[in-house]
Amino acid sequence: MGRVYLTGAGPGALELLTIKALRVIRKADVIIYDRLANPEILSEAKDGCEFIYVGKADSHHTLPQDEINELIYQASLKYDIVVRLKGGDPLVFGRGGEEGIYLKQRGVKFEFIPGITSAIAVPEYAGIPVTHRGITVSFRVVTGHEASKNKSQIPWENYKSDDTIIFLMGLHRLKHITEKLLEIGKPKDFPIAVISKGTWAEEKTVIGTLSNIYEKAKDLPTPALIVVGKVVKLHKDLSWFEK
Ligand code: SAH
Repeated sequence: MGRVYLTGAGPGALELLTIKALRVIRKADVIIYDRLANPEILSEAKDGCEFIYVGKADSHHTLPQDEINELIYQASLKYDIVVRLKGGDPLVFGRGGEEGIYLKQRGVKFEFIPGITSAIAVPEYAGIPVTHRGITVSFRVVTGHEASKNKSQIPWENYKSDDTIIFLMGLHRLKHITEKLLEIGKPKDFPIAVISKGTWAEEKTVIGTLSNIYEKAKDLPTPALIVVGKVVKLHKDLSWFEK
């Protein structure tokens, strides 16, 4: 029985991969990867390594999670070193925990290899610090996916504080997210940013307010994340990556 490495690939730029991740990628017999992992990473694999892609460009058409769990398990019966490669960090909305539990229940040894999460690194590439002395003492990372109109699981009332809020998977819910934040009392001119393709050469940041960001940013390409908070104002001084 093989060993499975539930591995973070970082937010996009190849060099934001950890040395440990690179080491297991180079010795992997099979790499099971999805859409967000930079495909250039695969060229680091050894000759004969098998590649299995489990995510299509549209996140709604990825292989169902239970099938991915089973596929990883089956791979561990066949190969010595299995790398399950995921964008960012495997445990930040990465479902790595579910995969770990599935393997544990079947007696398969696994390790987590943390990755640099897009939640922090993408704002950083856009010159937006998630915390800043004198502006905010905390940040929260939220799934925008749950922000559906009817059955939102997000405790919006808790978000009245000055925390920086980072929404992942939220671009298709941008309008609803801004409406909710206005509803709980944030001002119309409250700063918000959308960052598309962060850390990639095509990175693009759009800065706006709760009342105008939807019109400005709704057509940006994915992946994209949303940053809400006064730290967004620092972008004008700290932007360094985008030309
Ligand atoms: N485990 C990942 C997050 C998975 S959820 C991590 O730690 O980064 C997928 C969401 O992450 C996307 O919908 C998007 O909101 C965000 N994301 C991932 N990579 C991104 C990138 N390069 N630029 C902008 N957003 C990104």
